[in-house]
Amino acid sequence: MQTSNRVLIIGLDGADWRVLRPYLNDGIMPNLAHMIETGVSGTLRSTIPTHSAVAWASFMTGRNPGKHAVYDFMQRAPGDPTRMVGANSRSLRSETFFDVLAKHGRQIGAINVPMTYPPFPVHGFMLGGMSVHEGKPYTFPESLVGELEDRVGGFPVNRIRWRYTLGRWEELLDEAIEVTKQRAHVLKYLIDYKDWDVLIQVFVSPDRLQHPLMHILDSEHPFYDDALAQRLKPKLCVYFKLMDDILGRSQQQVGKDAALMVISDHGFRSVHKSIRIPEILGKHGLLKTRPRAAAIRLSRKRLLRPVARWIRTAFPAVFPASNRNVGSPMQMTGLVWPQTQAYVTTNTSQGIYVNLKGREPQGIVTPGDAYEHLLDNIQEILLAERDPANGQPLIESVMRGKDSYVGPWVELAPDVLFVPSPGYMPAREAHLQSLRWQRGDHDLDGIFVTAGPGIKCGGKIDGAALVDVAPTVLYLTGAPIPEDMDGQVLDIFADQRLTSIPPKYEKSRPADYEAAEYTYTQEEELQIEEQLRSLGYF
Ligand SMILES: [Zn+2]
Repeated sequence: MQTSNRVLIIGLDGADWRVLRPYLNDGIMPNLAHMIETGVSGTLRSTIPTHSAVAWASFMTGRNPGKHAVYDFMQRAPGDPTRMVGANSRSLRSETFFDVLAKHGRQIGAINVPMTYPPFPVHGFMLGGMSVHEGKPYTFPESLVGELEDRVGGFPVNRIRWRYTLGRWEELLDEAIEVTKQRAHVLKYLIDYKDWDVLIQVFVSPDRLQHPLMHILDSEHPFYDDALAQRLKPKLCVYFKLMDDILGRSQQQVGKDAALMVISDHGFRSVHKSIRIPEILGKHGLLKTRPRAAAIRLSRKRLLRPVARWIRTAFPAVFPASNRNVGSPMQMTGLVWPQTQAYVTTNTSQGIYVNLKGREPQGIVTPGDAYEHLLDNIQEILLAERDPANGQPLIESVMRGKDSYVGPWVELAPDVLFVPSPGYMPAREAHLQSLRWQRGDHDLDGIFVTAGPGIKCGGKIDGAALVDVAPTVLYLTGAPIPEDMDGQVLDIFADQRLTSIPPKYEKSRPADYEAAEYTYTQEEELQIEEQLRSLGYF
């Protein structure tokens, strides 16, 4: 029996069975259907928060955020906990399975995986993904950019930012189709012309389309728009067929000796109403914002912010980094810290931080009993919160950060984590208002399908998690698995292979290495902020 395989992973950011199923049933995605029939499929449990930065970090490391230290798209700026800056590949505090493959002589190609920008050295090649600083090198080796431009017309970085095409849905779909085609063209070239044992490409278009169009894709959405659904149907079919063609063509290209895996970092669900956690905390006296006059002054300042941002970008030397407040305006400015016991950093953190004495610059909550009591209190408050319109709870589940994660970086975790109830999402709109344009948000259950030599035919898998992918891929290539990976090798194999060839384990590289220092220039920080804004994340 063969003990090592090449593995091709197609990552579909945000893909969800509820969205794909109608296209599968209508015969628009025959290659995916064939993979399901001849391989193993199921759902894939994401991370909490269910956002790409955290989820893809867990995918790459096979570990929970307590070990890789990425808890959100944003992280606190070094030396200034009230300021937030974008997380990037240098935020990762754990080895990746890319590193393990290199150690054992296997080559990897990683294309557009979120959290791989700036690109880092691997045994193989990398095209950095998410929040790429346009104009800066985004590949490893650097010469790859030129090669791709010469041979296949280049790789489109970032793109599909719905903020620029809101309401112009045909335009958004056309862009998604065009960008996806070009990225697939690059994949086709790299499959053939590079050496690799594991190749992964992430396509972000499912996520980008589902956020604003879930009311078209889910006929049970409260804002379901049948006329628009009919109008967009042909283009949506073109898009889903394109995704399916990419799977079919890639599978043919890599041949029968390679395993193919299709995964998503999180699923998707319909949303229609906003929740504002600061408002809930404020109502219960746990958070205090400045009086209204000051808030109005602040919001005026906010209106002028694009102008201010342009001036700062145009004249960076005049505005030293310490004068800026990247990331913090929305949730953290306007807080009266001496009267705030608990607060939120960003909407995407799905977390609440306690204003803890000794940890926060203006902490007021004493560690120990007061802190523990406050955590219980916050949990009770969140779970009791209801939508007066229908009596439904706003929050599905609440847990403590320290109970949810394990590892050397647990201290960075929010004190309380929560999962919103279906239909609700933390957003910019006022509390319990109809969302202006978001129609879908992330769900915990993503998708998992794999087929190839030695893999069960027509199997179903239950309880697979995103952190299981890294050890499973290592096992498929015959490489050992670091013993502190949180994931398990998934039992996707025919003929009791896991029993006859048990996984090998090895010591992990120490998790506290400091190679990863946060080093964005001011200009880069501003560009990341703009990119996250253009994706509606903040
Ligand atoms: Zn998303």
